[in-house]
Amino acid sequence: DKNARPLALSGHVGFDSLPDQLVNKSTSQGFCFNILCIGETGIGKSTLMDTLFNTNFENFESSHFEPKVKLRAQTYDLQESNVRLKLTVVNTVGFGDQMNKQESYQHIVDYIDTQFESYLQEELKIKRSLHNYHDSRIHACLYFIAPSGHSLKSLDLVTMKKLDSKVNIIPVIAKADTISKSELHKFKIKIMSELVSNGVQIYQFPIDDETVAKINTTMNGHLPFAVVGSTEELREMLICVNMEDLREQTHTRHYELYRRCKLEEMGFKDTDPECKPVSLQQTYESKRQEFLVELQRREEEMRQTFVQRVKEKEAELKDAERETKLEEKRRNLEEEMSVFGKHRAAAELLQNAQSNNKKEKDRKNSGFM
Ligand code: GDP
Repeated sequence: DKNARPLALSGHVGFDSLPDQLVNKSTSQGFCFNILCIGETGIGKSTLMDTLFNTNFENFESSHFEPKVKLRAQTYDLQESNVRLKLTVVNTVGFGDQMNKQESYQHIVDYIDTQFESYLQEELKIKRSLHNYHDSRIHACLYFIAPSGHSLKSLDLVTMKKLDSKVNIIPVIAKADTISKSELHKFKIKIMSELVSNGVQIYQFPIDDETVAKINTTMNGHLPFAVVGSTEELREMLICVNMEDLREQTHTRHYELYRRCKLEEMGFKDTDPECKPVSLQQTYESKRQEFLVELQRREEEMRQTFVQRVKEKEAELKDAERETKLEEKRRNLEEEMSVFGKHRAAAELLQNAQSNNKKEKDRKNSGFM
């Protein structure tokens, strides 16, 4: 700010304690960290979590015959010194075990979006309580790659591609002790080149802070991490050095993208076509206007449809009436014809009787002669 003038202080004021105040406040509030483990059943997800956090989390046996992928979240309260951590481990149960692989990643995408949506809904509330909100957004996604030594499966590439704009992906080679060192080295290079050629963005340890730049630059070169070989390094990088960066990236990059897309979808925007700022009030008013116009259009459409239906019904009724009259005339005609038939039969009978009488008279008269 060019208008701000630097001033020297002539004595101690005390705002140099702000960082300490911040630390105290954060410590008393506690922290929250959420990890998503993606990988097939038996690849070593639970084992790695136990090793990373030096504890035994609840482990659920799962089979390879799950009908669909389920995401199971377990939350734990951990404490180290005076720092409390609410840790959530989310496991992908049955990942990659189904015939339809597309559904495997869709459930994961939906889960991540649901957590973003819950946070957005809390943010949009009139009376919000973000300070004690249990943030369930995923901060780190450990993607377990099977130690095949060949290349990534297409499911791995597709899943990582679908997730890379939503979550910090850290690829790890599972059970790295089952392949030789030279194979592992070649495998790592192959994986990285496949990720690059498919445009998959994985999490990069930050190098802009000089206190961690050196270690993070080295560690970026070790990605994907080989589990077993470098569990210590993984713990160091994930928890000791970069946990806060993972939390921050989740909020400022991934959540921000979700929020922006969602609000734009709802019709909110920061500027109008002439790049003038648009306030929330203006957006609300114009949306309300659009809604009213749309409502009127629909009402008119419904009215037209109603009028059309009434006309059709009237025409149908007229047709029916005409048919009824015709039917009545036909019945009358039939009755008249039947009466006429009866009369004709009676006349014929009479005529026959008269002719028989005449013949009899003629016969008698001829007898007298
Ligand atoms: P999850 O189903 O992915 O959670 O897999 P688990 O962590 O339950 O591991 C399945 C099996 O693999 C267990 O018998 C583990 O002992 C074994 N396992 C886990 N990690 C490793 C590893 O790094 N190397 C080897 N060789 N075996 C491992």
